[in-house]
Amino acid sequence: MVNYKELGLVNTKDMFAKAVKGGYAIPAFNFNTMEQMQAIVQAAVKTNSPVIMQVSKGARNYANGTILRYMAQGAVEYAKELGCKNPQIVLHLDHGDSFELCKDCIDNGFSSVMIDGSHLPYEENIALTKKVVEYAHAHDVTVEAELGVLAGVEDEVSAEHSTYTKPEEVVDFSTRTGCDSLAISIGTSHGAYKFKPEQCTRNAEGKLVPPPLAFNVLEAIEKQLPGFPIVLHGSSSVPQDEVDTINANGGKLPDAVGIPEEQLRKASKSAVCKINIDSDSRLAMTAAVRKYFNEHPDHFDPRQYLKPARENMQKMYEHKIVNVLGSNDKL
Ligand SMILES: [Zn+2]
Repeated sequence: MVNYKELGLVNTKDMFAKAVKGGYAIPAFNFNTMEQMQAIVQAAVKTNSPVIMQVSKGARNYANGTILRYMAQGAVEYAKELGCKNPQIVLHLDHGDSFELCKDCIDNGFSSVMIDGSHLPYEENIALTKKVVEYAHAHDVTVEAELGVLAGVEDEVSAEHSTYTKPEEVVDFSTRTGCDSLAISIGTSHGAYKFKPEQCTRNAEGKLVPPPLAFNVLEAIEKQLPGFPIVLHGSSSVPQDEVDTINANGGKLPDAVGIPEEQLRKASKSAVCKINIDSDSRLAMTAAVRKYFNEHPDHFDPRQYLKPARENMQKMYEHKIVNVLGSNDKL
């Protein structure tokens, strides 16, 4: 048993309370490599931002749960080394799908877990979430739950059709489960293809323009649960310059499209206090690596191409923190 406090991590409680009050959102960046971890920490320290480093089941399978935990502990030490006196770093399980997985993470140093019972019938989602909350709270770990189903694919999370969260259910759900935050569905989705071309219009350059998020649903939820921390999943914006770089260097990502940053900025100012970004980091890394390989076909030292990849990710993380989520200078 390792409690997260021994690792220098924090849970989301104070962080979210401050974010809801302050009208900004905490960045939740997924990671499973050292370069992603370094880029996240460098960006958070440089901008003076709290940060949630999150790990999916797929990331645990890829990198090993123990290694990821030591990386999170290393992230705290690294932030201090970079000059941050009081790093506010959360290690969060993204899309936990069972009590056992959540318990294993809580027992191994995670400070926050998500239990995603959104695919279950309503009462079963409540029962599963409540069970996780009881165990988590006994260890001072915070719990994110989900109500409503997102479309798209991300790691092992998939849903053919999205169903918006029903505002009339949120009070009953949060009261009966005791969850600390709630992931909702208002039109975001996982992956780099968030919308089908037929759901979008095209601008003058032929780029897809996605439909707007359902802010009316978000407002109705906020009215039901004033001040309660709301979470948006699947909120990469799929930067078109990165997509263009990938496609110009041998990649093939036709019609990749995400959530416009203005809409995420607007959501950050509301009760939305955690915004999940994963695909944008993958795109930033891939764009830099593809470009590097194309320009230096004779290089083969991973440090040569992972360095620009890391720099590109850091730049992206800083941009999100400062220009989209507004969590800079909040330590
Ligand atoms: Zn998600």
